[in-house]
Amino acid sequence: PCTDYDKAYFQSYSHVGIHEEMIKDRVRTETYKTAILQHQSHIEGKVVVDVGCGTGILSIFCAQAGAKRVYAVDASEIALQAMEVVKANNLSDKIIVLHGRVEDVQIDEEVDVIISEWMGYMLLYESMLGSVIVARDRWLRPGGLILPSNAVLYMAPVTHPDRYAESIDFWRNVYGIDMSPILPLAKQCAFEEPSVETISGENVLTWPHVVKHVDCYTITIKELESVTTSFKFQSMMRAPFNGFAFWFDVEFSGPANNDAPFSLEESTQTKPSGSHRRKRTNPDEALVLSTAPEDPPTHWQQTMVYFYEPIDIEQDQVIDGSVTLTQSKENARFMNIHLEYASGGRSFVKECVLR
Ligand code: SAH
Repeated sequence: PCTDYDKAYFQSYSHVGIHEEMIKDRVRTETYKTAILQHQSHIEGKVVVDVGCGTGILSIFCAQAGAKRVYAVDASEIALQAMEVVKANNLSDKIIVLHGRVEDVQIDEEVDVIISEWMGYMLLYESMLGSVIVARDRWLRPGGLILPSNAVLYMAPVTHPDRYAESIDFWRNVYGIDMSPILPLAKQCAFEEPSVETISGENVLTWPHVVKHVDCYTITIKELESVTTSFKFQSMMRAPFNGFAFWFDVEFSGPANNDAPFSLEESTQTKPSGSHRRKRTNPDEALVLSTAPEDPPTHWQQTMVYFYEPIDIEQDQVIDGSVTLTQSKENARFMNIHLEYASGGRSFVKECVLR
């Protein structure tokens, strides 16, 4: 059923600005374009579904790569624009734009390829992956291709004293006035809920922990309702520990070697450096779209969960705990974050919602 929340969600995609932001994100759009060209042999002469086509850009890339037919599906009014774009580019014989939810539209044939740009902040926010799963289970032929093929959500402890100072210490002396009574409110407003912002590799205290592997061929909707993981970090430096950062990468590999990168990566800690991670997780050098702090920034940035007070951490100090991500009951597109963490004999709990 299409809830009011869904209506508001699809409404948000009817504005041109959101599509402009995504398309102008060159890391995103060029990686998709490269992935389509890299898998041209799987796309040429084949039937493709673009789950959430937006302006139609990925459908057009697929048509240009020689797809026989592309079903471009979007429930937002932006689909009407996609129809016009398809016409203007003389692709009406190849691309069929369907204005409706993937859950509701009808496609009367098996498809060879599913392409989708479904990733939200922290990977799972927006929970659009569920719609890719629906498309897969409704239409993908056995042995068909899904792009991207898999995804990994990471987390790491972060130091960000400048960010803390900018929002908090500022109130200690405002034009010579002591405004420190405002500090509790300032902390609450700045750090109660997660924030989406760009940090750098230097903010990260140690190697990231894998929160969740997503294999797009096998993941189920049930598995996405709640994700829990335990972590154990060892800080590589002495620093104020201000919070945790979350980011993800997605990989575009063929259906055949889809399992291969996984077994190598099950360890809890992976190298922080992009190139190292790529080698370890990617023996076949599959194409990766990374949103890691050490890689070029994307519109996803990183998702930060800050604490009200920094924790002073020594080099080699251990930070352990667990995190649970659940779809919010109030709106399944929101995400509840429940964090428990301990360090230096003190333990903490933080609950927040990414809306
Ligand atoms: N593929 C485009 C747009 C990606 S944004 C691009 O790469 O630029 C995701 C799009 O998916 C949005 O336009 C949104 O309206 C659409 N979408 C999300 N869930 C959907 C669903 N269940 N059915 C149809 N469209 C959906």
